[in-house]
Amino acid sequence: MHFELTEEQRMLSDTVYKWALNELGPVQEKIDEEDWMPPNFFRDLGRLGVLGITVEERYGGLGMDVLTEVLVTEQLARICPGPAMSMVAHVELCASNIQRNASDYLKEKYLPPLIRGEKVGAMGLTEPNAGSDAMALRCRAVRNGNSFILNGSKMFITNGPIADIVLVYAKTAPDLGPKGISAFIVEKGAPGFSVSSKIKKAGMRGSPTAELNFDDCEVPAENLVGDLNGGVAVMTKGLDVERVVVAGLSLGISRQTLDYSIKYSREREQFGVPICEFQMIQAKLAEMYARYEASRNMIYRAACLAQGAGRGGKGTQITQLAAAAILYAAEAATRNGSDAVQIHGGYGYCLEFPVQKLWRDAKLLEIGAGTTEIRKMIIARELLRKGSI
Ligand SMILES: Cc1cc2nc3c(=O)[nH]c(=O)nc-3n(C[C@H](O)[C@H](O)[C@H](O)COP(=O)(O)OP(=O)(O)OC[C@H]3O[C@@H](n4cnc5c(N)ncnc54)[C@H](O)[C@@H]3O)c2cc1C
Repeated sequence: MHFELTEEQRMLSDTVYKWALNELGPVQEKIDEEDWMPPNFFRDLGRLGVLGITVEERYGGLGMDVLTEVLVTEQLARICPGPAMSMVAHVELCASNIQRNASDYLKEKYLPPLIRGEKVGAMGLTEPNAGSDAMALRCRAVRNGNSFILNGSKMFITNGPIADIVLVYAKTAPDLGPKGISAFIVEKGAPGFSVSSKIKKAGMRGSPTAELNFDDCEVPAENLVGDLNGGVAVMTKGLDVERVVVAGLSLGISRQTLDYSIKYSREREQFGVPICEFQMIQAKLAEMYARYEASRNMIYRAACLAQGAGRGGKGTQITQLAAAAILYAAEAATRNGSDAVQIHGGYGYCLEFPVQKLWRDAKLLEIGAGTTEIRKMIIARELLRKGSI
């Protein structure tokens, strides 16, 4: 497959990279040290037009393709993976799911402010006791007149501390197992909705994470997204696209760790020569590049296939390819992070050099949005179901 980017795709990703370099680059250390997100982050991205790349133009989006969303994610992640992850949660886990599944009323109400960056989005699926086994979620929603009453909690929710609009999954018919789950939009300030203090993380700082609590939280019945008891369909419809876009975060990290390593190895001298003259350093650079290119090819191909498959349609290779792309790219980014630290030696392990931060950031991408182990299970399930690739 040949990836000739269009002029529009090149311009948009260049614009985002330059914006991130100028605006986030100088505050990278503050973002990491203080787990700080620049206050205008979402509004600035809204002004750049990148919060609704694949969303229809009538809701304020650009109506472009999944590959463009991946390109933008990659460029932002090169400079600041934490805030980039918050962008992906806002766009893919919240806004895109609303576009794919919600009623026209909900789309008209919630998409334009999300796309302009005036409101921040999040998605709550994981619970303290339901992570990989998401279907075991316990959060309950019970109909009460024109409302649903939600009780339960959600764990590790990206943007939780700052979200205005959260897509929440809850059991509406507990006896029906996965067929008894529904999705709801819960707004900040809804009675009975509260957010824990920010969770302290090893990496991806600048992307605020929290536990959400629902204590007799009243949600209007019209905020049901998709069908009653149709939550799994909402969850799975865009899952392949989500995996591909999240993989774009790993790609940005792989690229940036390589760029830093090339530069440092040309500058740092030992035994009277730049360390890039040592074959063992060259081997690392070559392996880092190979991992980046392999990740890039898988992700871009999966992005094109996801587009062609009607955003995650069944009966194509997309499910296994999207899972393989994120599996490979996430592990590649962590290995590139580790190799970058090694190339930088003692300095690489010090907080003032950014490679250690990228290494910490990369590790999350082997855990969040489905772990490495779950990704392998999905790929094997698809292969065994079809009996071939
Ligand atoms: C920073 C961060 C941000 C996140 N953002 C969000 C968000 O916005 N919204 C949201 O809903 N969730 C979010 N998550 C949750 C994330 O999706 C879960 O952490 C992830 O799905 C794993 O669940 P768990 O942490 O409970 O681990 P567990 O499911 O308890 O897994 C523990 C270990 O057991 C392994 N394991 C589990 N089951 C199997 C199996 N069947 N076979 C083999 N191995 C298995 C896992 O792979 C893992 O290695 C976020 C998590 C983090 C850390």
